Amino acid sequence: MKISNLENLKAIQQVEMDIENLNYSVASNKDYQNYQKTISFLKKFNDDIKDNKENLKQKEIDTTKAISVLNDFYKITNELLEKANESISQITENDISIDELEELIEDFKKLDNDLKTNAEKLVNSKRQIFQLESEQDKIEKNIKDLIKNFKVNKLEQKYKELYKTYMAEKAKLEQKLNGFFKDADKNDLILYKKVKDQVKKLPIIVRKNNDLCTGCNLEIAPKIQSQLNNSGDCAICDECHRIIYNGD
Ligand SMILES: [Zn+2]
Repeated sequence: MKISNLENLKAIQQVEMDIENLNYSVASNKDYQNYQKTISFLKKFNDDIKDNKENLKQKEIDTTKAISVLNDFYKITNELLEKANESISQITENDISIDELEELIEDFKKLDNDLKTNAEKLVNSKRQIFQLESEQDKIEKNIKDLIKNFKVNKLEQKYKELYKTYMAEKAKLEQKLNGFFKDADKNDLILYKKVKDQVKKLPIIVRKNNDLCTGCNLEIAPKIQSQLNNSGDCAICDECHRIIYNGD
């Protein structure tokens, strides 16, 4: 198999592997990981607080509505009580039976009971609002403590420095890579990209070591071996499909 400039392809592969290693070293950096973890943790906390505030606002609206309904109920009940009082004052011994009197007393008891129940509801609603407000205050205090304890600012500073160094190193490598791409033979590059797409994982250009392919560590088939007689010769491994070269 013909490769016009093997050294150039090997150089491209080396720089691409350097970029991969650089990406890996940043992703596995402890400061980077701590920063990412803290940021996502704080974001979740902020989302929770937002949900909680919205929830509280809705509860306040609901409670205000309930209080307004209860006020209307008081008004109606008071009117009914006044009417009932008026009716009783007009009753004489002669025109009411004992059954009718008992019925009236029962109605009064029921109204009185309803008023008590609704008064309790109102108190509970107010208590609920107070409880939610104190819950919200507690969460906000927790967030402030969290930010203080996690030293977000310090982490962010470290992250920014790390990111700056990373971007500078990456830019240097990319510039180097572009230089090699410019110098490369067009057909070499087509082959390199084709093999890379197929194998997916670098390295894709590997050395022949005795009779072994150093990509898959399997013995190179005799038919492929015969294509690798001289130093600088290349062939495709029929096991892992990498480019094997004969040489250092
Ligand atoms: Zn192989």
